[in-house]
Amino acid sequence: MAMPLHLTVKLGTYLMKQKIKRVEKYPLIMELEPLFACNLKCAGCGKIQHPASVLKQRMPVEQAVAAVEECGAPMVSIAGGEPLMHPQIHVITQELLKRKKFVVLCTNAVLLPKHIDKFKPNKNFAWMVHLDGIGEKHDEAVSKEGVFEQAVTAIKLAKEKGFQVYTNTTVFNTETPADLIATLDYINDDLGVDRLEIAPGYAYEKAPDQDRFLGVQQTRELFSKAFADGRRKKWRFNHSQLYLDFLEGKADFQCTPWGVPLYCLKGWQKPCYLLDDGYAATWKELLEDTDWENFGRGKDPRCDNCMAHCGYEPTAVLATMGSLKESLRAFAG
Ligand code: SF4
Ligand code: SF4
Repeated sequence: MAMPLHLTVKLGTYLMKQKIKRVEKYPLIMELEPLFACNLKCAGCGKIQHPASVLKQRMPVEQAVAAVEECGAPMVSIAGGEPLMHPQIHVITQELLKRKKFVVLCTNAVLLPKHIDKFKPNKNFAWMVHLDGIGEKHDEAVSKEGVFEQAVTAIKLAKEKGFQVYTNTTVFNTETPADLIATLDYINDDLGVDRLEIAPGYAYEKAPDQDRFLGVQQTRELFSKAFADGRRKKWRFNHSQLYLDFLEGKADFQCTPWGVPLYCLKGWQKPCYLLDDGYAATWKELLEDTDWENFGRGKDPRCDNCMAHCGYEPTAVLATMGSLKESLRAFAG
C-alpha cells in the first residue's frame, strides 16, 4: 500500500529540496514527546520510568513548536507518555498543522473520547492508536484489563467523526504468526482503519520485562510467515515496501539514526529515538556533535537486535526515492 498522494508529494518535495541544497543528514519524521506521564503502565514501555518530578512536567507549546521549526521535518509524530494528558496538546497540534506539517497523534485511546472534540478532522492529521492484539492479548500487553474495548470504542468514534485513524502494533516474542495474522486482519478488515504500522518491540534497557523482545532471526521468521500467501499486500500498511522486505528478511541494510529524531522534555535524545545517551540542546548540536558512525548493527551491541521503523524506515524511504524501480514498486503497491 502506497502513501496517500498528498503525503507522497509533500515528502518528495522535501527530499528534492534537501538534494538541491546538498544537505547530507536531515529528518523525515520528528518524534515529539511533550510529556513522559501516562495513564497506563505497559510491560514493554521504556518511557514511564522517570522520577515523579519529571513525570509531572509538560512541555510549553512555544518550546514544542520551536523544536519542530528548528529541525524542519515535514511530518511530526506526537507521543509520550500519553499526549492526551497534556492540557494543551490540541494547541500544539493546531500550531503544527498551521505550519503545514503532517501530524500523527499517538495515543492508547483511553482518553480519546473525552478530548476528541478539541480536534477537527484534517487531511494532515491522524490519530495513531496503540493496539497490540485482540481482546485479552492487548490488555495483557498494556497490563490492564478493559483497555482493548476502550481502544476499539475510541477508534470507531474517531472514524464516525471523520478522522483518519492509524494503528501501531508492537510485536513481541509471545506472538505467533497466527496471532499476528488475526490481529492485522481484525484491524484492517473489521475496524477498517486507514493505515497500519507494525514494529518489533525494541529491548529498552529500562523496560520492566526484558524477556519479551525478539531477535533478528525470530523477527524475520515471524514476519515472513505472517506475510505469506499474499497477506502482506492486502493489509493497508503505512510502511515502504523495502521496510516490509527488511522485516521478513528479503532485504538488509543499515539504519539511518538521524532520520526520526526525538525531542522530549530533556532535549534532543542522543543518538536516536531508542538509545538514550544523553541530550543535545538543539537539533544542530545533535547533528554536529554525534559520532554517527558508532551506531548501527555490528557497531554498538544495543543495535544488534533493533529492526524498528524509526531507524530503518528512513533508509528504506531514501532508497525507494533514489531508485526508479523501487519508486514504481511503491507506486504500484
Ligand atoms: S501507553 Fe505507551 S507510553 Fe503509556 S505505558 Fe504504554 S507504551 Fe508506555
Ligand atoms: S540500530 Fe536502532 S537503536 Fe541502533 S542507532 Fe539505529 S535506530 Fe538506534
